[in-house]
Amino acid sequence: MGPRGLSRREFLASSGKGFFCLAVVSSSLFTKDAYSYGKARSHGEWGWVGTKLSPYFHPLAGGEVQCSLCPRECGISPGGRGYCEVRENREGKLYSLVYGNPCAVHIDPIEKKPFFHVLPGTPSFSIATAGCNFDCKFCQNWEIAQTVPEKTFNFRLLPDKVLDIAYEYECPTIASTYVEPTIFFEYMYDVSVLAKRKGILSTYHSNGYINPQALDDLFQYLGAAYIDLKGFTEDYYQELAEGELGPVLK
Ligand code: SF4
Repeated sequence: MGPRGLSRREFLASSGKGFFCLAVVSSSLFTKDAYSYGKARSHGEWGWVGTKLSPYFHPLAGGEVQCSLCPRECGISPGGRGYCEVRENREGKLYSLVYGNPCAVHIDPIEKKPFFHVLPGTPSFSIATAGCNFDCKFCQNWEIAQTVPEKTFNFRLLPDKVLDIAYEYECPTIASTYVEPTIFFEYMYDVSVLAKRKGILSTYHSNGYINPQALDDLFQYLGAAYIDLKGFTEDYYQELAEGELGPVLK
């Protein structure tokens, strides 16, 4: 049993879909034909953490802070982390622990994002860090979404390097994807600002669980967004994703 409720094992057992889900996991992320097993791998290490002060928090009493990035609005005690486990309260300030340290770096077809009418037939430089603000029992990327950056192999790719590589590999888009990109917002935002300047489209594959202010800030620099709808009822969202449908529909 994980700390977030129904365990993956229980979910798989009850749904009878264990074999299918595990088969998808083993074939989706860790293929050797993409950039991650090329020269980028020499620019990373297990557990390397890049930090950045987040602009999305409010101080509370007793050194606690409240994150305002997504509707969960975690209250975080000194030294603690939010639900996504990649935002930490350090001496009354909230820091991202996933700035410039993606653990998934691939060149995918844009149709895998999935966009069908955004530069079809072109490659998309795709990045993700550890962490997520949902806990979907059917997540096919759970090995990176449901862990902490200290336990993943992380590349050292600051935003300007992301743009350099996208350009070098002739990718007209950069995709923030695989996990919920809101949890690496500061990184995605800086990548998007640079991308817009250089004429590359920044795209966002999201669960839609983000607060309006952050979304407004991001949209100024975003080329395209795809929002997953994971179910049709609040009960479904709460039981299988530990999220809420209302803010996603909004
Ligand atoms: S981004 Fe993370 S820390 Fe912030 S409110 Fe959402 S789950 Fe909590």
